[in-house]
Amino acid sequence: MNTPKTAEELAEEARRQEREARPLEPDAERRVALRRPVLEYAEEFLERLPRTPVYRSAKEPAAELRAHPFPEEGPLPRPGADPPRLHELLDLFDRSVAEPGLNPAHGGHVGYIPGGGIYTAVLGDYLAAVTNEYAGVRFAGPGAVEMENHVISWMAEMVGYPGDAAGNLASGGSIANLIAVVTAREAAGLRAPDYPRAAVYLTDQVHHCVDKALRIAGMGECVIHRVAMDSRRRMDPEALARQVAADRQRGLVPWMVVASAGTTDVGAIDPLDRLADVAEAADLWLHVDGAYGAFFMLCEEVRPKLAGIERSDSVVMDPHKGLFLPYGLGAVVVKDREAMHRAHHYRAAYMQDAHAEAAGRPVDSPAELSPELTKHFRGLRLWLPLMLHGVAPFRAALREKLLLTRYFQRRVAELGFETGPEPELSVATYRWVPEEGDPDAFNQALVEALHADGRIFVSSTRLDGKFVLRLAVLSFRTHLETIDRALGILEEKVAALEGHPGRWREAES
Ligand SMILES: *Cc1c(COP(=O)(O)O)cnc(C)c1O
Repeated sequence: MNTPKTAEELAEEARRQEREARPLEPDAERRVALRRPVLEYAEEFLERLPRTPVYRSAKEPAAELRAHPFPEEGPLPRPGADPPRLHELLDLFDRSVAEPGLNPAHGGHVGYIPGGGIYTAVLGDYLAAVTNEYAGVRFAGPGAVEMENHVISWMAEMVGYPGDAAGNLASGGSIANLIAVVTAREAAGLRAPDYPRAAVYLTDQVHHCVDKALRIAGMGECVIHRVAMDSRRRMDPEALARQVAADRQRGLVPWMVVASAGTTDVGAIDPLDRLADVAEAADLWLHVDGAYGAFFMLCEEVRPKLAGIERSDSVVMDPHKGLFLPYGLGAVVVKDREAMHRAHHYRAAYMQDAHAEAAGRPVDSPAELSPELTKHFRGLRLWLPLMLHGVAPFRAALREKLLLTRYFQRRVAELGFETGPEPELSVATYRWVPEEGDPDAFNQALVEALHADGRIFVSSTRLDGKFVLRLAVLSFRTHLETIDRALGILEEKVAALEGHPGRWREAES
């Protein structure tokens, strides 16, 4: 190819490339042809959901994907006909992605906390992608930024924060916790030489992403205290106060308390009000990881257990958990907007128009309050469902989950399972103690049998060294019928294992 030199040559070559790039901009007719099979697949996926297994173990689903290299050119679409390859690719997606492993859209997914995908949020994502609105900086996307901040204000108000609180819609709870940790670090004015003396207080039940966030924030060398818990795995405020006092004595700098509002393992809520007393007295940053539990603020009956959350400095709450959104939205709210801004602001010459526009107003651009610049417009996927459905159906769905968990706990105890204390939120733990033999081996075999069966997906954990099963109810598609089915399957698998001890006894030792 000759290198174009004159303006005419450049123009001619640009036109040629434009023609070649044209598949990237299908016309209206082709858009219909592209959309139809995708929507048909999505409909079929949803319609057959109740009849599909929730879990299918698969060893090598990626092998087939890797066997399809990206072609240099796609086949040319014919006007009016379905686009070639799309059906084939949807089949490949179905076999290689939708089928293997866990199906988190399924109501039978009661293994882990997140599992959502409400349809109106899906439509919000579609519009966010089509319009590609920019929600990073107010100057460029005033409406998108306003919408995100409107949603954040709603959450801040829910946890009892004042009207000038700030926040961010991040990709998930892990990043939201990281933003809170970095904000707390800057608020305390800590610098690298201070880290080995800075003390953090949390429990053994804190989500691992908090440890990860501390490490990513460069604070891996800070002093991390695992504060003692009560019998229900909640942080003991007196133990916290003692530890803080001892640390001061030793010349450490007590810095941050990370409380959990709904632990992942058992759904325990730390005593936030009493922790706030300690944090206030000692001038510590109180962060509440409510990724799982904070949206239960919508339920009046849970609010007393979350009392004190309004006294915290920052809260993480995950709409892709508690509001059943598709994966990709975890939020953080911070009481002190300035602290959040100090931790994340930046200056760049090529951003000078945006900086000028923002002068003199409270900072509210996500790019100044988070690590991201260009980002997915996450506000719309939450705003649209809230506006369309109102808050009441979300509250009802959360309340349903609480009731289902307690119902399960009663019924599973009636079947003869050993159960934990009454669930505080929507996680129940239970295990079968066999007539003879090692209960750990039995329950391990039980969870494996459930996974192999695939009609219901529960998970397992260890509590006080014992192998226990978990039921985590937080899918908007999990209903009474699902729980009854789970109970029936549990009963069936226990009978099968008790009747054939050989199937699990050899796993002992
Ligand atoms: C799920 C969870 C997280 C992590 O959130 P992601 O959205 O998975 O990144 C953090 N803390 C708690 C308590 C959680 O339940």
